[in-house]
Amino acid sequence: MTYVVTEACIKCKYMDCVEVCPVDCFYEGENMLVIHPDECIDCGVCEPECPPEAILPDSDPAADDWLELNKQYSDAWPNINRKGEAPADADEYKDVEGKYAKYFSPEPGKGS
Ligand code: SF4
Ligand code: SF4
Repeated sequence: MTYVVTEACIKCKYMDCVEVCPVDCFYEGENMLVIHPDECIDCGVCEPECPPEAILPDSDPAADDWLELNKQYSDAWPNINRKGEAPADADEYKDVEGKYAKYFSPEPGKGS
């Protein structure tokens, strides 16, 4: 069991989630975060902290499409455990649909 970051995170990156995770299992891409499924302890505290509701438990069928992406990129991207500054235009993208196809970047973020 794990929690999963979905495409709603793309270009938002408010990073409220990393502040509350007790096991520091978030990893940072250029414009989204992912959760390492083998490190997440399924506590659920990050889910209500995420403004665009990007975080889902893997028991939710809406998480199915994103589990593999979280697995793959948490191995490739650097760990992030401190909240950074959200992009200036984050609010504009909060409710945009289909962000993966339009904006997903496989490039790593800076981590912290
Ligand atoms: S709070 Fe939500 S949108 Fe923001 S970085 Fe975390 S998962 Fe992504
Ligand atoms: S469910 Fe808990 S352990 Fe998993 S990512 Fe969220 S805060 Fe971290």
